[in-house]
Amino acid sequence: MKFTFCPNCGNKNTKRNLGDDANVPYCETCQKPWFPFSYTCVLALVIDENSNFAFIRQSYINTCSYIGIAGYPNPEEPYEEAVKREVLEETGLAVNHVQYIGSYYHEKRDMIMLGFAAQVSHGEFKISKEVDAAKWFAPHEAESALGQGTIIHKLYKDYVNRKISLPEGTALDKTVPSHASVFPKQREAPLKYSLNKEKFENDSVIGVPSTDENGNVYDKTLIGSYVIIPKSHVPTPFDLSAKEWHDTKTMLDTLKKQLDEKYNPDGYNIGWNVGHIAGQTAPYAHLHIIPRYKDEPFAGKGIRHWLKKPENTRP
Ligand SMILES: [Zn+2]
Repeated sequence: MKFTFCPNCGNKNTKRNLGDDANVPYCETCQKPWFPFSYTCVLALVIDENSNFAFIRQSYINTCSYIGIAGYPNPEEPYEEAVKREVLEETGLAVNHVQYIGSYYHEKRDMIMLGFAAQVSHGEFKISKEVDAAKWFAPHEAESALGQGTIIHKLYKDYVNRKISLPEGTALDKTVPSHASVFPKQREAPLKYSLNKEKFENDSVIGVPSTDENGNVYDKTLIGSYVIIPKSHVPTPFDLSAKEWHDTKTMLDTLKKQLDEKYNPDGYNIGWNVGHIAGQTAPYAHLHIIPRYKDEPFAGKGIRHWLKKPENTRP
């Protein structure tokens, strides 16, 4: 969307250089820049609890393949709510969880499509008048229902190829089904791991030795370090269920007992990194438990030690 005329007063805009932006449409009367933008809509990949996909047909868009549910958010409506509303309006299915996957530019319509995975409970469709048909597809059928190169196809691929890498510092087997869901509540324990005397588990979390990027247990620094990880894919500690929170605490007690016996540390650091900026290198919540020793050079330095240095002052 480009503004030749001012949407406020209707006068023709001039062009101005504003900061780094050259030739920005500018209304001299209202003293206001009118930056061009692309409309934004939401696109939902609808998935049930068994990873079946629901797609629709709308003959005015495409007659030869199925498509996802798309729509414009209402003014002031959060995009997640728009996803829930559109899916319900067009298919009759209530959305339990919404997870953002990525954004896609639709060149023909100069539109940004925000792609979401929308988890619903499997059910019968009650389609709206705008929709010609809706159909469930088993996981292996879904891709062939979609037009190659369409945005719903890209969203589908991004969803199923979602690389769920394991957190730095875990000794887990690297087998995670590609459908290991992005939804915290789909709790069928996608992680596969083998327990030995170094590894611990309870109902919903495991405790495993921290390892470096090559899978080796630390033996010179971070001695005796462990991580606690939910068995389901939980992106951050803010997504932990009450049960996982409780089981994390229980695991912490289990590990402390083991570590006290084996390493007899003089202290502990315990913490989560949340988000890339805060140093989270893998999309799983993982709680670090780091034994500390009085003879190590950084003895006496806590979690905030580096962060509170003057070099870390924001500009
Ligand atoms: Zn104006």
